[in-house]
Amino acid sequence: MSRGDLFIVSSPSGAGKTTLIRRVLDDPRIGGTLHFSVSHTTRPPRTGERDGIEYHFVDGAGFRAIEVRGGFLEWAVVHGNLYGTSRAEVEPRLERGLDVLLDIDVQGARQVRSHVPEAVKVIVFPPSREVLEARLKARASDTPEVVVRRLAAARKEMEEWGEFDYAIINEDLEAAVDELRSILVARRAGKSRRRERLEAILRSFAP
Ligand code: 5GP
Repeated sequence: MSRGDLFIVSSPSGAGKTTLIRRVLDDPRIGGTLHFSVSHTTRPPRTGERDGIEYHFVDGAGFRAIEVRGGFLEWAVVHGNLYGTSRAEVEPRLERGLDVLLDIDVQGARQVRSHVPEAVKVIVFPPSREVLEARLKARASDTPEVVVRRLAAARKEMEEWGEFDYAIINEDLEAAVDELRSILVARRAGKSRRRERLEAILRSFAP
């Protein structure tokens, strides 16, 4: 069985990445063999978020316990909270041939790239500053100070676009979903993913 592919999807918060990812995961043609990596975070849950589904919600001590035993593939401080991708979430699934999708920030994407250079990196841009600001303000759970901090962080993150393989501009959700789905589908036709079947078909042609 060939290893699955690791996909990194990064964007400034509010660019609509979570909705985009959820839509692709809900697609039965994709979601069945794509695992969403549930990160650990010290951020308190927002209304409606469930432990173990959107995130593993932990306190600082719980986070550090995983970090000191080398349990994170990457981790970063994002907007004052700790976020990390545990190896346990990712590595066994890639081994089993599943694709794994990481929804992580640009700092985390950089760390993963240095350990897993073959990871497929996608950045999601909002169509404009105005749209991002409006989306952040509409998120009633975040205070005005948080919105200002996130807008300032957005530009810094977006400046890193050259480090990514694909860039999706999330202007029209349906078009953006289509693009992300296409990236995932195209990778599944990669020759290294098909090696075993290609060789078996070829053997059947042996004289
Ligand atoms: P939020 O708090 O809005 O859910 O996420 C804030 C930011 O943290 C988003 O850009 C999200 O992609 C990022 N993030 C979520 N999980 C992780 C993680 O495990 N590692 C890193 N580096 N960033 C993460």
